[in-house]
Amino acid sequence: MSKLCVVGTGPGNYDLITPEAIKVLENSDIIMGYEKYIKLIRPAIKNKSLEAGPVTEELERAKKAIEYVLSGKTVSIISSGDSGIYGMAGIVIELVAAHNYDIDIEIIPGITALNSAGSLLGVPFMNDFCSISLSDRLTEERDIIKRIRAAAEGDFVTALYNPVSSKRTELIKKAREIMLEYRNMNTPVGIVRNAYRDGQEVHISTLDKFLDIKMDMVTIVIIGNSMTYRYGKYMITPRNYGNKYEL
Ligand code: SAH
Repeated sequence: MSKLCVVGTGPGNYDLITPEAIKVLENSDIIMGYEKYIKLIRPAIKNKSLEAGPVTEELERAKKAIEYVLSGKTVSIISSGDSGIYGMAGIVIELVAAHNYDIDIEIIPGITALNSAGSLLGVPFMNDFCSISLSDRLTEERDIIKRIRAAAEGDFVTALYNPVSSKRTELIKKAREIMLEYRNMNTPVGIVRNAYRDGQEVHISTLDKFLDIKMDMVTIVIIGNSMTYRYGKYMITPRNYGNKYEL
């Protein structure tokens, strides 16, 4: 039976795509995705019908993929990182649910930006954490702000996806101000740009100063909790082994 696969392709390094993802791509009749991510998987897929398009056309892409599946094709939509984390799996499933299409969907997990960036920074996520997307394209700004405050108050290590866009530059400043109401200005902040891709940049700054570092649409920001500290090139959120055992 034909099916619709939504495949997470990880941060952007071919070696960080799972073997399962490659297998699913190899078994697809059609592969669709944002052109930049299609380029990444090109070595894995010879003789496939590829449909690349701009990142903004995700709704159109999902609708088209469903049409192909209804006509008997097996289609893979690729999505960077994990397709279920601010990725294409969301729109695909919402469309299928809205129309009650009789379609089999398979979601293949991938390494999300938070994992990739975390590994480059050390162990920022060694205790409770949350992720917030600052994109206000589909979420009201007031809801984003409410979540930032809750994360700050709850002392969660906080990953900020989509920290800035060419038009949206103020929200990250507000996020910093809210965090500063609850956390010390020396709290470590990791800024990772292009994790595991060309142009990778890894910085550890502080809540006070991190706005000085260049951020864009391929950057993720990780704000430590009240316990997080810096040790050389590592950002460490302790799990407090030292309280229970002698280290
Ligand atoms: N589905 C993706 C997230 C898409 S939202 C995932 O699971 O990773 C897009 C945001 O993800 C970007 O604005 C950025 O904040 C983050 N991101 C994705 N890939 C990244 C990478 N290689 N390096 C740093 N941040 C990345």
